[in-house]
Order: sequence, then C-alpha cells, then structure tokens
Amino acid sequence: EPDPSLRPQPMPEDLDRALRPQGLEEFTGQAAARANLSVFIESARRRGQAMDHTLFYGPPGLGKTTLAQIISKELGVNFRMTSGPVLAKAGDLAAILTNLEERDVLFIDEIHRLNPVVEEVLYPALEDFELDLMIGEGPAARSVRIDLQPFTLVGATTRLGLLTTPLRDRFGIPVRLEFYTVEELSRIVTRGARLMGAEIDKAGAHEIARRARGTPRIAGRLLRRVVDFAVVEGDGSISKPVADGALTRLGVDDLGLDGADRRYLSMLAENFGGGPVGVETIAAALSEARDAIEEVMEPYLLQQGLIQRTPRGRVLGAKAWAHLGLAPPKRADQ
Ligand code: ADP
Repeated sequence: EPDPSLRPQPMPEDLDRALRPQGLEEFTGQAAARANLSVFIESARRRGQAMDHTLFYGPPGLGKTTLAQIISKELGVNFRMTSGPVLAKAGDLAAILTNLEERDVLFIDEIHRLNPVVEEVLYPALEDFELDLMIGEGPAARSVRIDLQPFTLVGATTRLGLLTTPLRDRFGIPVRLEFYTVEELSRIVTRGARLMGAEIDKAGAHEIARRARGTPRIAGRLLRRVVDFAVVEGDGSISKPVADGALTRLGVDDLGLDGADRRYLSMLAENFGGGPVGVETIAAALSEARDAIEEVMEPYLLQQGLIQRTPRGRVLGAKAWAHLGLAPPKRADQ
C-alpha cells in the first residue's frame, strides 16, 4: 500500500483558480454541452433576459462548478455560490435570493441534498421569480409575497436520481457531463503545465492524462505531484518515464487506479468470488460511506468495464480479474 500522504491532495486555492478555464473558448472537452451552452448564453444575452435554469450532473471533478462560473462570466453577471447542505433553513435561501441582481447566476452545488422545506421555497422562485415567506408564528402567522429579480439557477449534482421530480422539471437546460477522453485530458495537462511554468512533452502529458480517471480535477492533482518529482529528482521537465515513475510512486497504477480502487476490486474478488455483492455490503467491508463509493469510486470503474451493476449487486468484470492477475472462478452456470 502506498503511503497515504502521497495520495493526490487538493491543490492550493490560488493555483486551482489559476488553472480554471475562464471562458467557454478555453474550456476543453464536453464538446456537445459546450456547443449548446454557447447558443443558450448568446440567446439570453441578445434578448437581455436571464438564461434558463441549468442543471449539470455527473461525477465529481468534471467541470460543473467551472462551467457555472463561465456562464456568469459570459453573461456578464454576478456569480453567487452556495450548496444544498449549507442551506439549512428557508430563510437562508430567501436571504440569498433577495440579494440577487437582475440576470445573476446562483450556483447551488450538491443540489440533491437540499432540505425539502428549502426546496419548497425554491419552486415559486424558479417558476415566477417570487418568494412566499411565512412571517411570524402560530395564529399571527401570515404569508407575504416578495418579487425577485429574474435570475438563473445553475444546479450541480453527482446523483441525478436523488433529485425530486418537481425540482428536476424546473431546469430548462439539463446537461450531463461525461468522462474526458485521454486526448482532451492531454490538452488540459499541457495547458496546466504551461501555466505552472513546467516543461512537458507530448508523451509525458499523455501518460498523466491516461492515468487521470477521465477527470480534469485528478489530472490537475497528478500533474502537480509529477512536477514536484520532476523538480526535486530531475531537471524539472516532464517526459513519459518521469511521469510514469512519479505516478507509480504515488500509487497510481497503469489503469489510473489508486489504492482505494484496488482495495475495492480485490475485496470483490477475494471475499465475494467476484460478486454479485450489494453496495451496502461493499461499503461495510471497505469501511467507506456508501455515498462516496457510489459517487466517487464506482462511476469510473463502471465506465472502464472493471465492474458491472446488476439487479443483484456489483459484479467484477473480466478486465478487473486480468488487472488483479487472478483467474475468475468457474461458475456452475457457465
Ligand atoms: P465539479 O464541480 O464537477 O466537481 P470543477 O468545476 O470544480 O468540477 O473542476 C475541478 C477542477 O478541474 C478545477 O480545478 C477545474 O479548473 C478543472 N477543470 C474542470 N474541467 C476542466 C476543463 N474542461 N479544462 C480544464 N480544467 C478543467
């Protein structure tokens, strides 16, 4: 097992911000989503109206927050940011909504974790730009209606399935973000290295991209660590052998899997004969939260065909057996 302190760490705020693409033109990948968004942004701008409410969904680190910020920049309006779990009371949301200026973008991360009471307040705000608030308590309570400025809600979620149907229906623009191709991640890594002032060749960028789990956030983290190794143990420039050596020492294997992924796969192989196993059982066996397993670990393993989801639970794919260097068990039905 690799030293846990060597696991990729979040980048410092300022560098993370510097690497963030600022405009739609600078944003690499998600070609279909980008093409559509540019039309919707341009149309809202020409009409001088708030853009329709937009929902980004997909695994963490694929650019949901970044795209929300880009939308506000391209629209030339303010960007306000909050998250589902932070909005505990209806008043918290009301305070934010009443402070929005015309056509502003309000970004709510983890919108599937909104308190139902807060969600109720959101509906008329999204539909008619109106707030219905209860003032006072008991028999003296009365409801007041407050007009809001037209605004754009941009919601982000890693779990579309956990959104209530009425909330989902209020987003005119639902956008599914996909894992990035190695080609796209190579471009992102090359740009990141340039911004960091590090020299990188094509094969070096490709190697980092290939092992970044289809995810720009991970590509950025890996790049930072590879730069560290290149600076301290080499001449600072990144080639394929430098990237490979650094990533291997970080515990990121040839498929881009880290220690936690391998623990998941070998547990499925060794303790459960490759499955099927329910996610609750997997969470208990790994001492990990079920949410983290479903939102962070499994999407990439599924996309790579390392595991499959069946009605009876998770099953290890042939590719995973090969990766672990194990032979799949002979089954009675095969
Ligand atoms: P999410 O909100 O989906 O979790 P973020 O928008 O916070 O993801 O992006 C995570 C990191 O990846 C940020 O540092 C961001 O700059 C970077 N990133 C995301 N998408 C891209 C992209 N298309 N090109 C370059 N960097 C990206």
